[in-house]
Amino acid sequence: MGNGSIFVVGLGPGSKEYRTIRAQQALEEADVIVGYNTYLKIIRDVTEGKEVIGAKMKEELFRARITIEKALEGKKVALVSSGDPQVYGMASLLLDMMAKHGYDIPVEIIPGVTAALAVSSKLGSPLSLDYASISLSDLLIPRDEILNRVRKAAEGDFVIVLYNPISKPLLEASMDIIREIRKNPTPVGIVDHAFREDEKVIITDTEEWKKFENVIGMVTTIVAGNSKTYVTGNKMITPRGYERKYSY
Ligand code: SAH
Repeated sequence: MGNGSIFVVGLGPGSKEYRTIRAQQALEEADVIVGYNTYLKIIRDVTEGKEVIGAKMKEELFRARITIEKALEGKKVALVSSGDPQVYGMASLLLDMMAKHGYDIPVEIIPGVTAALAVSSKLGSPLSLDYASISLSDLLIPRDEILNRVRKAAEGDFVIVLYNPISKPLLEASMDIIREIRKNPTPVGIVDHAFREDEKVIITDTEEWKKFENVIGMVTTIVAGNSKTYVTGNKMITPRGYERKYSY
């Protein structure tokens, strides 16, 4: 049949204003939209009249496969991810699957505002020096490997962004490592549902963060500062280094 194509669309953190114009165009152009059910709710404004294929959380393989099948039927398919589709999203699985089977279908990856950037904008400017992004999901990656990355990132004095902080034991182990390596209490930002209904923004530190554990769920991202990160008023700031060179 041919002429099918695939958009892998990053939807941004939630509200429509934070979608890119290209993402919006792709959603409007698509004949078929494939995504995790929660994301399909976020884009209800563009799904009318289209074939919409929802799936539950753990059905990533199904979503990638159906996207390819529909494109092979000649359809324009938008496979959607929240945030950015490369960042713990669907882009690599789709490309991987296509490569393994040797499918030759045009694919456009459309970047989006990933949670690290979205939540950090709510906290102030904690990502203003080198940072590391780590997913605490141990569904695919062994726990030891994850904790080893947390340790190396903390030793490297990176600001650390923790995605998928859903497993309490893994989160606690990670925060223990960060606290142990940073000599002093270090600012920690916790943002739940950034740019969505029921958004919560908390600024705490490596000693006190557990008081807010009840806020942490499936849609929370945590940002632990580096040794220079500080809090003033309700803003978490990682200085870029101007203060080392200039007085202002
Ligand atoms: N592709 C997405 C990440 C998917 S992994 C992106 O680029 O943002 C799912 C994790 O993303 C969640 O567990 C949470 O850590 C984070 N996340 C996604 N949307 C978020 C939001 N609106 N607010 C806070 N964290 C969010």
